[in-house]
Amino acid sequence: MSHSVKWLGHSACQITSASGCVILIDPWITDNPSCPVSKEDIGKVDIILLTHDHFDHMGTDIPYLVNGTNAVIIAQPELVGVLQECEVSAENIIFGMGMNIGGQVEVAGVKVTMTQAFHSGTAGSAVGFIIILEDGKTIYHAGDTGIFASMELLGKIYPIDLALLPIGSVFVMDPLQAAYSLTLLKPDKVIPIHYKTFPILVQDASEFIKLAGEKAPEVKVEALQPGQELLL
Ligand SMILES: [Zn+2]
Repeated sequence: MSHSVKWLGHSACQITSASGCVILIDPWITDNPSCPVSKEDIGKVDIILLTHDHFDHMGTDIPYLVNGTNAVIIAQPELVGVLQECEVSAENIIFGMGMNIGGQVEVAGVKVTMTQAFHSGTAGSAVGFIIILEDGKTIYHAGDTGIFASMELLGKIYPIDLALLPIGSVFVMDPLQAAYSLTLLKPDKVIPIHYKTFPILVQDASEFIKLAGEKAPEVKVEALQPGQELLL
């Protein structure tokens, strides 16, 4: 059995581990023009990771996705406060109060480390996540960020099998920064995300694919269509 990583458009990703743990990252589903599914299609969720509180990451579906389930949301304490105003129960939040950068938590056999990201946010700061699945396969979701030098450290501490990197420019790394970040992170594979959702963003992955081929030819670029999955 392999793990499945499905891109739901923009920053939203759904990981289903080989043992069936379902992890949603930044589940902006309703009103996401790139998302090919509706919230009713998502089904069971075990873990939700939130990188920051902007609408194109938090969306409006979180109460629907977690209420009455055992799903655990992993986010910063300030963001957790916003969720609780939206009637998300403390039981659906890691330790009832959230976590912060540098810490690692384990839920359903999956280890999650919160990492820094350089971006803005109203409730707390923006973050990324290192996700270590039950068999050790390691996925890095960068969240919204510009490039930063300690991506190199992340790649050394947590050898990365798959990186999910924003390439859309304007609000996040552009294709050049994203391609260069591969030389720091050194993942085996990369899925470009956070592009073409809005007219002002980079509209396709071609420039990133070209630059990644020049700067980090050893990294396999997996440019998915929204709704498509990669088996890991
Ligand atoms: Zn964003």
